[in-house]
Amino acid sequence: MKKSITPNQIKQNNYSLIYHYIYKNRNVSQQDISYNLRLSRPTVTANLTKMENDGLIQKSGQIDTEFVGRKASAYSIVPDFRVGIGVEILKKEVKIIAVNLYGEKIDRLAFDFDYEETESYFRTVCHKILEFKERLGLSEEHILGIGFAMQALVSPDRKTIVYGKILSCTGLSISRFTKYLPYPCSFIHDAQSAAVAELWISPELKNAFYLSISKHLGAAVITNGEFLTGKHGHSSTIEHIQMEPRGKLCYCGKHGCIETLCSLTALLEEKETPDEFFLYLRQGNLIYKKRWEHFLTNLARSVNMLHLVYDTDFILGGYLASYLCQEDLDFLYEKIRQITPFEEADDFLRISKMPKHNITIGSALPYIQKFLNTLAES
Ligand SMILES: [Zn+2]
Repeated sequence: MKKSITPNQIKQNNYSLIYHYIYKNRNVSQQDISYNLRLSRPTVTANLTKMENDGLIQKSGQIDTEFVGRKASAYSIVPDFRVGIGVEILKKEVKIIAVNLYGEKIDRLAFDFDYEETESYFRTVCHKILEFKERLGLSEEHILGIGFAMQALVSPDRKTIVYGKILSCTGLSISRFTKYLPYPCSFIHDAQSAAVAELWISPELKNAFYLSISKHLGAAVITNGEFLTGKHGHSSTIEHIQMEPRGKLCYCGKHGCIETLCSLTALLEEKETPDEFFLYLRQGNLIYKKRWEHFLTNLARSVNMLHLVYDTDFILGGYLASYLCQEDLDFLYEKIRQITPFEEADDFLRISKMPKHNITIGSALPYIQKFLNTLAES
């Protein structure tokens, strides 16, 4: 039997509806809210007053309103009412970011620090996070949680690293961090984190194959807005698909994995930076052009194979994304057409819209999303 809705639920629902309306439209008048949500003015006024008292929204100047023909008070949410923190743990560096309720960067901090599984490492990283939080003037209640993006596969409960060869951190427990941090903390696979950030700014994306092309290669498969993890947690670890049995040694111990062909490590010489490489390439240097076309040809082979498995949009993300241009996509389409059995449309490759800070931001976003989802219960 269908349960009837209680007056209290209606109240909570209105509160949440109004908050999300302001959140989505950024700067709105009481009249806009009342008209667009079909709610009475007294209901809207009462909710706005409560929300303002709760610290969730603020008056933000005056705006024109079509309903009364004069300026009215505008309301916006308080973007840093709650904050999520994202941390990326790399072999030689740690990156920290604080994001507001819009998933926007408030501030960030990066420092060189070699990863090692010692007490002093975890203590130092956590102290840096706490100092960062202090510097931003954030109180305890501001922090929704801290996501740790790892170059590793993570258990479904996000508390343990189940496979971490790059950092040699297999078996690592989140308790090594939470011991020093009084906030909810969780691990997230770095490629998934980047894909979370991509979905945040492209909410229309329901299905996609996200390729994170950075120093190392990673991927995340998104289907119906959810990430595929699989029976044993290693869905989408396409970087270890073997393309060339006699190829270069991969860090996984096998030879010729996609990682050894399509990561930035595969593209760049030792000590060469992407800035240098793309400067010479875009200046028309033929040696760089040859190297780039060799790389793109391997990328086309890999994308084609994956595309045959999952016919969906492919997002080329990671550190490489900010260097990519339409000409590169055209080259990829051409190469894919040469090897694929179907008539291929040129509409499934997309360059990431968020190549910067995507991993750190993405690791904080699940906490922001959870907060927004549960607001109705607050
Ligand atoms: Zn491998």
